Amino acid sequence: MPKPKLDIPIDLTKSRPWKGIVWHHSVTADDPGLNWDAIVRFHTSYRIDGQIVTADEFERRMRLNQGKSFLKPWKDVGYHGGTEWANGQVIFHWGRLLGMIGAHAGVKGASNQFNEQYLGLCAVGNFDLAPPKPKHWDFNLRLTRAFMEAFQIPASHVIGHREVFDRLGVPRQKSCPGNRWDMELFRAELV
Ligand SMILES: [Zn+2]
Repeated sequence: MPKPKLDIPIDLTKSRPWKGIVWHHSVTADDPGLNWDAIVRFHTSYRIDGQIVTADEFERRMRLNQGKSFLKPWKDVGYHGGTEWANGQVIFHWGRLLGMIGAHAGVKGASNQFNEQYLGLCAVGNFDLAPPKPKHWDFNLRLTRAFMEAFQIPASHVIGHREVFDRLGVPRQKSCPGNRWDMELFRAELV
């Protein structure tokens, strides 16, 4: 018996030939309402050191070199999709188109290959503090299986963001998708 997977429409003719999946967490709380829109807004805004700023403020502080990380608005949210609790159930949101490379797993000075070859999925929540709740965990498994089947992705190519650094042979810069999200267990439960 194949394990259950989410029933979502995936059009291979409009997709890149994805070789794997990188899971992330939002690090923000998953409150009972919709949180995905805030993530989309964040990624499509001017940002300095993780804070949204106006275009004018961005230019001004850039000129004065006030800040460490300057990010201009991305074309769309960096992930191809995300999951969250909303009004008592777990739901899936589509992110950027499956034909677009991601903006979620680049490593400055090392490689952009995981943005180019791996889908980016984000679960809303902070899983450094607590593991995903069983229903969220199970939903993420079912979603992952749907993409695995569509693109013939093996479980070994389903990784957490922190494992991107391992695979590139550089020190981990993040705990994403959270220290309490056991990726070995997640992979074991996929198949
Ligand atoms: Zn991440």
